[in-house]
Amino acid sequence: RYTGPYLAGRVTSRHKTAFDVLLPQGETGRVGASGALRRLGKIPAVGDFVVVLDQPDSGTRMIVDILPRHGTLSRGAPGEGGGSQVIAANLDTVFIVTAAGGDFNIRRLERYLAVVHASGARPVIVINKADLTEDTDALVEETVAIAGDTPVVAISAREGGGIEELSPFLPAGTTVALVGSSGVGKSTLINTLLTTSVQETRDVRDYDERGRHTTTVRQLFSLPGGAMVIDNPGVREIQLGNAAAGLEETFADIAEFAADCRYRDCRHDGEPGCAVQEAADAGLLSEARLLSYRRLMKEAGFQAEKNDIGL
Ligand code: GDP
Ligand code: ZN
Repeated sequence: RYTGPYLAGRVTSRHKTAFDVLLPQGETGRVGASGALRRLGKIPAVGDFVVVLDQPDSGTRMIVDILPRHGTLSRGAPGEGGGSQVIAANLDTVFIVTAAGGDFNIRRLERYLAVVHASGARPVIVINKADLTEDTDALVEETVAIAGDTPVVAISAREGGGIEELSPFLPAGTTVALVGSSGVGKSTLINTLLTTSVQETRDVRDYDERGRHTTTVRQLFSLPGGAMVIDNPGVREIQLGNAAAGLEETFADIAEFAADCRYRDCRHDGEPGCAVQEAADAGLLSEARLLSYRRLMKEAGFQAEKNDIGL
């Protein structure tokens, strides 16, 4: 049905009904999504690669297709499409940012790890504010103990210490998102990675759908080294969803013990002949980690049920 020329683009921010799309030649355009796309329940997300129909003669410019996604973070809340809503797409890497000091919480890290493992992106644990503790090594050690294959890097985003250790995870052409509680230093880290003034790069003078002059904060932008960063995917609302697979990877040690459980479908929650419980009793697995696993399994299971019945 469409006859016009098509442009390839990438969604850099999402507004109520429109999307900012980075187009060839570095131009950013504010466009809507076609009715056909909306009727299919396909809603573009930040990071999506999209096809834009561009017919200057008729003034038509809109997103007509979304390319297949990989590495997505979703909001579990029901809504559009009845299920979860993708809030960041095509992520290769996710920096799980945590901070040394009072807020450091190994159980919260396990939760983020489960979410990121389930997303399909590669997690990297970034312990920020290393300048706040005398004993960074102890924190790193405690984290490595639960991290499995996930790299752990300690940095000080504000002072710049350790920043260069992140560059192997930011090769040109890849996309990274930062998740973590508010206040851990995600914005500071992005600023440091950008090295230039973030205001210039991220605030875009623009017009909204009604022609009003606005300043919008772009959520996806390039780092000097050629990697792209998605800022603030609203991770507070990110839920575990169907993260059973993510949990398996996050708790690889438990999965290994579980091979010896009497029941194949053992939930490691009081069943007789549970090898995981035996490992915990023998001190091979920390009780806190087992409790964390059970809690996350219940949460993931509950959300999967909610999604199934369309709550
Ligand atoms: P966000 O909410 O995760 O984006 O966190 P911000 O980047 O806004 O940082 C929250 C606070 O932590 C600010 O006051 C920062 O100056 C401070 N902060 C960020 N990075 C560091 C760091 O490496 N060391 C210390 N001591 N403070 C930091
Ligand atoms: Zn078991």
